[in-house]
Amino acid sequence: MSDTTYLGMPLEFWSAGPLGIPFHLWSAFVGLVGLIVGSFLNVVIHRMPLDQSVVSPPSHCPKCDYQIPLRHNMPVLSWLILRGQCANCRAPISPRYIAVELFTGLVFLATWLTFGRSEPLMAGALCLLFAGFIAATFIDVEHLIIPDEITIGGIVVGLLLSAAAPALQGAVNIPAAMKSSALGIFVGGGVVYGVLRLGKLMFGRQKLELEPDSVVVFHEAGVVLPSETVPYEELFYRRSDAVTFQAKRLELSDRCFVDQPVRLELRREPPVLRVGGETFEAEHEPWMSAVIDRIVLPREAMGFGDVKFMAAIGAFLGWPATVFALMASSVLGAVVALALIATGRQNWSGRLGFGPYLAAAAMIWVFGGQTFVRHWLGY
Ligand SMILES: [Zn+2]
Repeated sequence: MSDTTYLGMPLEFWSAGPLGIPFHLWSAFVGLVGLIVGSFLNVVIHRMPLDQSVVSPPSHCPKCDYQIPLRHNMPVLSWLILRGQCANCRAPISPRYIAVELFTGLVFLATWLTFGRSEPLMAGALCLLFAGFIAATFIDVEHLIIPDEITIGGIVVGLLLSAAAPALQGAVNIPAAMKSSALGIFVGGGVVYGVLRLGKLMFGRQKLELEPDSVVVFHEAGVVLPSETVPYEELFYRRSDAVTFQAKRLELSDRCFVDQPVRLELRREPPVLRVGGETFEAEHEPWMSAVIDRIVLPREAMGFGDVKFMAAIGAFLGWPATVFALMASSVLGAVVALALIATGRQNWSGRLGFGPYLAAAAMIWVFGGQTFVRHWLGY
């Protein structure tokens, strides 16, 4: 055996990491922790948007309620051994579970290998941030929300971890790191809030010009426009979302109006239909038909959840990261939207949450975007 290797590995491989323990023993440990955290994230992704506790009851099969024993709850392995089925009723378990576990494990490992040697505490903080990203991404894709537990929780935790690991903010001491984190919260939240307000003016409400005297029908599930049918869940998402138009003629099931402004708000409690000065409970109007020239639909790329989410990113990574994330996520979002439209999987009316793009852009910042930008700006 040469004196530059030990057990077939270069000596550098065995070099000590934190607490004098070999660095790559830490690597294996961090990867394993990533798999376990991924397993927990599956629970978070499933339960948090439903306002269920993420700790109790223990995991159970959603189909047969079979409580999953610990030996069947091992990350990755259990899914493979059970071949993606419930051990009791054989109901299929989504491949998402193993994907989230593997991805979280890989992200933790990559973070550790990149930053663990010089800044182990920062690597740990970044792992926590990325775990939040993974949960936020899957929840946002499915439910178009990012829970406050993740966003507001992330702001608080980001501020605290910046104090524990000032390197996270590129700072040398705790006060500087706290200041940078606080600035990140305000700039991050502020830029997205600005875009949100601007977007509301520019694209927030989409005005559709139709052929003159087009007939548009509202039935129980959605709006039938001449070009497409849009389900209500794609339109009404916040309480303030409203479909508005000037009806040359409006027919409800039992009455008729001529030349009246109409406003439909289905997320109100109860859902409201306003015609001229009159207000109806929309639930009692299963059907209406309107003759119109144009219609205004509520559509926004971002929501207030994204404001809080970006503030959390700023809390962890500082304000330059949030400016980068905003720009890079817009590019990513546009590319993905165009790809989806080109492959016919999405139309313009479809909603895509913006959270996943913010998360991806912030990860790009951590893994090289930062270096690239600083180099480009001549630092
Ligand atoms: Zn089952």
